[in-house]
Amino acid sequence: MTETIDKEAVPLLQVRGLTKYFGSFAANNGIDLTIAPGEIHALLGENGAGKSTLVKMLFGVLQPSAGEIVWTGKPQTVTSPGHARSLGIGMVFQHFSLFEALTVAENIALSLDPKIPLAKIAEEAAALSRAYGLPLDPSSHVADLSVGERQRIEIVRALLQNPKLIILDEPTSVLTPQEADKLFETLFKLKAEGRSVLYISHRLEEVQRICDRATVLRHGKVTGACDPRQETPASLARMMVGSEVAAVHRADANALGATLVDVRRLNVPARTPFAVTLKDVSLRVRAGEVLAIAGVAGNGQGELFDALSGEYPVADAETIRMRDKPVGRLGINGRRMLGAGFVPEERHGHAAVSDMSLSDNLLLSRSQSDRTAFLAGGFASVIRHETIRSAAKRICDMMDVRKSGDDPAAASLSGGNLQKFIIGRELDRQPSILIVNQPTWGVDAGAASRIRQALIDLARSGSAVVVISQDLDEIFEVANNIAVISEGRLSQPFPAGELTLEKIGLLMGGIHDSTHGGETAHAH
Ligand code: ADP
Ligand code: MG
Repeated sequence: MTETIDKEAVPLLQVRGLTKYFGSFAANNGIDLTIAPGEIHALLGENGAGKSTLVKMLFGVLQPSAGEIVWTGKPQTVTSPGHARSLGIGMVFQHFSLFEALTVAENIALSLDPKIPLAKIAEEAAALSRAYGLPLDPSSHVADLSVGERQRIEIVRALLQNPKLIILDEPTSVLTPQEADKLFETLFKLKAEGRSVLYISHRLEEVQRICDRATVLRHGKVTGACDPRQETPASLARMMVGSEVAAVHRADANALGATLVDVRRLNVPARTPFAVTLKDVSLRVRAGEVLAIAGVAGNGQGELFDALSGEYPVADAETIRMRDKPVGRLGINGRRMLGAGFVPEERHGHAAVSDMSLSDNLLLSRSQSDRTAFLAGGFASVIRHETIRSAAKRICDMMDVRKSGDDPAAASLSGGNLQKFIIGRELDRQPSILIVNQPTWGVDAGAASRIRQALIDLARSGSAVVVISQDLDEIFEVANNIAVISEGRLSQPFPAGELTLEKIGLLMGGIHDSTHGGETAHAH
């Protein structure tokens, strides 16, 4: 009883008004959060909600722009991860920070006092891994280990510091269901010892299963705090995706024309153990239509984009048809020649070569047929620089690309401006088909609305547009029809006006009949 009162009197961690700006963009905006000793606290939110940013501030990786972190009753400036560790905060990152060539013990030693002998570290690590059910061989090389095993190293490394709070950033997104179950057992053990866990996830079911409290983030703000076990999946989904309908809803006045993209029963086996297998994906996009594909990260969006773009052609040409031609076996350039354009998620290195100027990047993306327009007499050696440069300028004007100088290197543009350029580059070709993955990821609000408007306008001019996105506001803003991807399966399309946020949230959270997403059986 006394202990309960103590818990309420002195929380382990209190965050007040925590705010983080990247440039003018508030990734965290006045976050309040309280964690009691011995609780498993969920930090829940869609992709981009600001979860990683928040915990990076708690762990001293990022410094807050404003607000306060109160640790065991005392305000603290967490200056570095080393400082966080010494306070008793451990963290397991979303992307591991391990050296492949080193052994497990050597990797662990890197974050500890260099005076501790390696043999002692190996011994302690082995003891911890036994105690917490995290099987690990300290002498094995990280390069030979699975993702699940690598995560165990990170957890053991955090435990060696005897932390009061362990933060895990989307730990199960890389685990098999069986590995996830094992991890949950470990977390319950930590909780039983009175340690606290801050558990980041967007998976409603697991949060309900293992967490005592949940704080929900959306667009950098707290939208709710609750006991997840008292909630329904629907009410949690509503907090995650927001209850208000997106401000701009596109008018569905334009009549849809011929089918320009036709995908029938696309099956693509996973290329790596952690890739997603596409299962029986069918979709159809007509002239004048924006089809938006919603879903939480890692449910097959990248794999679907790769198949649609020809980054990875598929075995049966007929599976994917564009403008009435079988294109499944064509690569990107072959599909571009048919009038399709593509914008991948990864900008630097994939959509743009960072060291090259904007105009050279422009030339690089043109298919052979377009490229001839830029070549005098068809010889690469006599590229007409003026034509390219003026096209680059046209694109920058159209999309309001902010840059220094006339034709700077792609690397010198901010993320949002580079994204505007890349989208503008595709739009400038007037593609009859445009397929984009996460078009406004990390882009500020002004640039995002310009990009969305451009996508809508392209469809209005008679093109077929596919927008893969995790941002539901974006989806409702641009889409005529919406389908949801979950575990490699695509739901049937729903007219945007007929889909509620609650229903889409449930489809995204994987709580549904995965193929059809009709009425869910989950009563309120
Ligand atoms: P989550 O972990 O909830 O998916 P993040 O905290 O990673 O979200 O990101 C929140 C928002 O902040 C995103 O829009 C992301 O693009 C942006 N962001 C994150 N880190 C940076 C950074 N270093 N520079 C600029 N923007 C960033
Ligand atoms: Mg994150």
